[in-house]
Amino acid sequence: MSQIREFKTESKQLLNLMINSIYTHKEIFLRELISNASDAIDKYKFLSMQDELLKLESDYQILITINKDERSLSIKDNGIGMTEEELIENLGTIAQSGTKTFLERLKANNTNNDNITIDVIGQFGVGFYSAFMVAQRVVVKTKSPYSDKAYLWESTGEDTYTIEETTKEDHGTEVILYLRDNTDEENYDEFLDEYRIKSLVKKYSDYVHYPICMYVKKRVPKEDNKEEYEEVQELEQLNSMTPIWKKSKNEITDEELNKFYRYQFRDFEDPLKAFHMNVEGLLNYNALIFIPKIAPFDLYSEKYEKGLQLYSRGIFIQDKCKELVPDYLRFIKGLVDSPDFPLNISREILQHNRQIAKIASNLEKKIKNELEKMLANERDKYIEFFKTYGVHIKYGIYDNFGEKKDFLKDLLIYVSSKNKEYVTLKEYVERMKPDQEYIYYATGANIDQIEKLPQMELLRDKDIEVLYFTDDIDEFAIKVLMNYEGKAFKNITQGDLNLESLEEKRELKKKEKTYKKLLDALKDSLKEKVTDVKLSSRLKDSAVCLVSNDDLSFEMERVLQNMPGGNLGVKATRILEINPNHKLIQALDTIYEQNQDDIKDYAELLYDQALLVAGFTLDDPMSFAKRLNELMIKTANINNHDNKTKDQEN
Ligand code: ADP
Repeated sequence: MSQIREFKTESKQLLNLMINSIYTHKEIFLRELISNASDAIDKYKFLSMQDELLKLESDYQILITINKDERSLSIKDNGIGMTEEELIENLGTIAQSGTKTFLERLKANNTNNDNITIDVIGQFGVGFYSAFMVAQRVVVKTKSPYSDKAYLWESTGEDTYTIEETTKEDHGTEVILYLRDNTDEENYDEFLDEYRIKSLVKKYSDYVHYPICMYVKKRVPKEDNKEEYEEVQELEQLNSMTPIWKKSKNEITDEELNKFYRYQFRDFEDPLKAFHMNVEGLLNYNALIFIPKIAPFDLYSEKYEKGLQLYSRGIFIQDKCKELVPDYLRFIKGLVDSPDFPLNISREILQHNRQIAKIASNLEKKIKNELEKMLANERDKYIEFFKTYGVHIKYGIYDNFGEKKDFLKDLLIYVSSKNKEYVTLKEYVERMKPDQEYIYYATGANIDQIEKLPQMELLRDKDIEVLYFTDDIDEFAIKVLMNYEGKAFKNITQGDLNLESLEEKRELKKKEKTYKKLLDALKDSLKEKVTDVKLSSRLKDSAVCLVSNDDLSFEMERVLQNMPGGNLGVKATRILEINPNHKLIQALDTIYEQNQDDIKDYAELLYDQALLVAGFTLDDPMSFAKRLNELMIKTANINNHDNKTKDQEN
């Protein structure tokens, strides 16, 4: 008797999308089903080595059968199969977190834009349900070795599915797709074409490590009469199956590596970089490492799991072995195969496995060397890498109190004031001016904003190169690094820059005396807000700027305050600097001499102006507006307002 059941809500949404999608790569359904079949065989094989109840098999196979009369396509495996509960659990709900994220994003994007929707289908590996892109009805016949009974699952992909008992001799699963009717736009008969199926398997599933077979029709000469031909069915293996990582370096082409990556990690793009290692000696292993061109979509989500796939002698053991990858390289993909790993290695053992630790450290060195090579020989590519993953390298420097800072420091690049091009720290230091004491940097939300900082004026004038820091982590990483080749880092908005000549210093001292009263009055007016008001040695054209002392910068204050949990207490010191060569200082001085009370409002205006320029928001924008208006009214009054009203009165 068959039981009707309802799909879970999320499944319904996904199915709806599959049925109505105008996705052009509908063909990926085959990849998804083959990959499920291969996973199922992996599971059986793995369990049969540990569980005596499961008989050891020698010929695992994924069999594809085309039935033109029924317009059906079947994919059959002798893997782990499913019990009734597993059928309900696995095919009635969405297990994959990636797919869930995908649906959430769709909802967030409000799917009016079909193109976005459709493009991401492939990237997310939507699994079993993709069958409904081409099938109007899907039947799954399955038997688990843990159950006496076999089951038949069936659905048209609408709201419900049915399950009933059936007969099936062996463990494993057969998925039968009854193809949709052809329409003017879509022809589903292509999936009944042997040649088409063969080429799809080659394209997407060539490296599946079980034979993918199909009975193909062959015309062969007749036994009794060689002049005539007859048609016979012959079982043909469609995939080459070679574990590509077992080949030696010079046997693999880049194209092969890329293709393998696209298949294995379900990416539509080639990787930015792929490398291959064959190591023999005390440790034996083969490894393939890939840097995806586009960062994995969920890289920053909590659910993201870093790690490499683990194999032993070509047999899959684990999908994300996190012990093989340091946190800061969490974006890399790849696999490691070592005959030294026992197949039944548990996650607990992995954590304390010395071999794993040793391999991990070798891989880390190798990856770093490859990145250094890329930086030296393929600068543009490295820049592309760094734009996507530079934050992680910086994190690597910062992490663990700078444990890896020396190891990683030469991977850093920053855009600098010199032509807005990327520069390494080494290059920066090499072209420093002979008497330059510091490596100067400036922080901001973006390069434009930094270039507009008043503090940039002097450095530009003196032709001193400044590194532009635009990532939140930048300054924190540099604080951990402390210096590079003995040169300390210096934020141009902090402390003394020490760039003036003796002559200039003397000049400044003189002016400090001249304006002493004014400065004291300003300082007094702003005593709640700033620790000091002083004449600036770092301004060229701007009138004022805000700086902090050497401890905490404004940028770090901002980052710390925005951190979850809010470090609300931290505040950088604020020092208001006034350009001694700007007309404003004389104006202020005159005002001060004429009316000492007015200076309070001017002080506030100066401070607010400096805040705005430094990228802060004002504490009290209303007061700022009011003061500004009053000032305007005042100046207007003096000039012509009075005249006008007088005119009107007359
Ligand atoms: P994914 O394979 O990414 O987890 P799917 O939607 O493709 O997502 O499949 C859901 C689940 O159904 C799988 O995780 C697996 O447990 C089960 N499944 C799918 N195909 C098979 C199969 N051929 N044999 C056994 N179990 C399968």
